[in-house]
Amino acid sequence: MENMTTGVGLIATERQKQIEKHGFTGQYHLDYHEGYTSNQLSKAAVTLLMPDLIPNLGWTSVPENWDKEWFEKLMNKETKERLIIAGALIAAELDRLNALDKLNLQKCESCEKETDIDIMHMDSGSNWFCPECWKELSQVMNPDVNTWKLKAEKWDKLDEEIGKYYDNVPESSSEEEGDLLDIGEAAARAFKYL
Ligand SMILES: [Zn+2]
Repeated sequence: MENMTTGVGLIATERQKQIEKHGFTGQYHLDYHEGYTSNQLSKAAVTLLMPDLIPNLGWTSVPENWDKEWFEKLMNKETKERLIIAGALIAAELDRLNALDKLNLQKCESCEKETDIDIMHMDSGSNWFCPECWKELSQVMNPDVNTWKLKAEKWDKLDEEIGKYYDNVPESSSEEEGDLLDIGEAAARAFKYL
């Protein structure tokens, strides 16, 4: 490939390798935000760009939440290779920022993290929650709500059942005793005694 020898070509090839070999797409960087949200890709590029880079000196640092050994391997590469990788990291950061732009972000009511609205949950008071906070909240709230809901449904069903006996019976009905028995049975059924 002819463009392999140009600077842009080398960087493009390296970037393609990141995507194909490691799956490092813009979306990936968004999904694993703890490794990328503090501008780690740019910071890594800045470190690798240093012409006189000497790994493990005080001023060289491994980006937050990155694998130390892996990044040290990059720091130990020869200058030209480091430049290519740094260029690809800048392209990766651009892909991440572009992916971020496409999102419809909303602040989580609980942890205040900006989150893609598509994966968020809204409570009955129109508050938005990220999946992590929602999971925590629903563990606290949902058992109660579900219990109440089941009870309410049971009562509504019983109400409807008893209503049937009163709606359809003429005033002069002589089957009153039978009706009371039926109502009693319906109530017992509703609470699983029958
Ligand atoms: Zn949250």
